Amino acid sequence: MSDCVTNRKDLWSGCGTILANRAVSKTIRRMTIVAPEFAERVQPGHFVMLRLLEGSDPVLGRPFAVFDVDVPSGAVDVVYAVVGKGTRRLAHLRVGDSVALWGPLGNGWRVAKRDPLPKRLALVAGGVGHAPFYLLLKEILALPEDRRPETTLLYGAQTMARFSCVPDFKALGANVKLATEDGSFGAKGFVTDLLPEVLPDDFPAQDAQILACGPMPMLRAVAKWSAARGIECWTSLESPMACGMGLCFSCVVEWKNDDGTWDYKRACVDGPVFDAARLKWD
Ligand SMILES: Cc1cc2nc3c(=O)[nH]c(=O)nc-3n(C[C@H](O)[C@H](O)[C@H](O)COP(=O)(O)OP(=O)(O)OC[C@H]3O[C@@H](n4cnc5c(N)ncnc54)[C@H](O)[C@@H]3O)c2cc1C
Repeated sequence: MSDCVTNRKDLWSGCGTILANRAVSKTIRRMTIVAPEFAERVQPGHFVMLRLLEGSDPVLGRPFAVFDVDVPSGAVDVVYAVVGKGTRRLAHLRVGDSVALWGPLGNGWRVAKRDPLPKRLALVAGGVGHAPFYLLLKEILALPEDRRPETTLLYGAQTMARFSCVPDFKALGANVKLATEDGSFGAKGFVTDLLPEVLPDDFPAQDAQILACGPMPMLRAVAKWSAARGIECWTSLESPMACGMGLCFSCVVEWKNDDGTWDYKRACVDGPVFDAARLKWD
């Protein structure tokens, strides 16, 4: 197993002050928390645990990808879908309230970084799986042109009302392709149907890389699509987890060793970003 929380020197825990907590779509909200010491530690793909200070229900924190950070102001943004008790309570927090946070957690996209960078990069996002890609895109788009992979964000949702932050991605200068299952916006169908537009069969597999985050059925489809074409693929898992620090083992996933035997990895500290070829998808 890789590092456990006790070995991490870059973690911070404390309270942040809420600067904004607004709806960005029918079911999705964006929260800005001022936590300068946290903000300065974040790398693309990291996540944060948020916990309410008042009350003990839910007793556990909830994990969220760090959407954006602004180090000079100490602002940390998360984009979250309201799905249950924890996120409903987060949605009721107001400007000036405090929230407990710890992190940054996880390996982030740094594990997927290769040298030289791929020539073409497809970022595949479903639901709120676009959240860990904003900071990554910021980093990629800041690279000198001769080093920058040709990058496209493929973003899918059930219906148009479930998209969020698309203007933010476009304002970065990102190339964005959208798909909805009901055809209400963008291409009709699954986001994975867009992959051949970005990575056609005649594009050399060794020059391509896919990074994906979203619901398990989408990740499974992306993993299978890339495996069939020999394209390197990394997936960021949103496995339900309790501590986020490697202590509780509630987020284990099955992982293939070099010798083909199976082992377990904790999504919180060994991931959440994993080489798709190493995970069990069936
Ligand atoms: C590393 C990581 C990063 C994440 N990043 C984001 C993010 O940026 N934005 C975001 O909206 N969500 C993200 N999630 C998922 C988020 O943590 C859960 O939606 C949240 O914990 C739900 O809390 P709740 O108390 O509102 O729901 P609960 O009351 O705990 O659950 C409500 C319903 O949602 C289901 N559920 C809960 N957690 C998950 C999960 N992780 N995956 C699938 N179903 C779940 C439950 O089974 C239940 O049906 C992330 C998860 C992980 C592990």
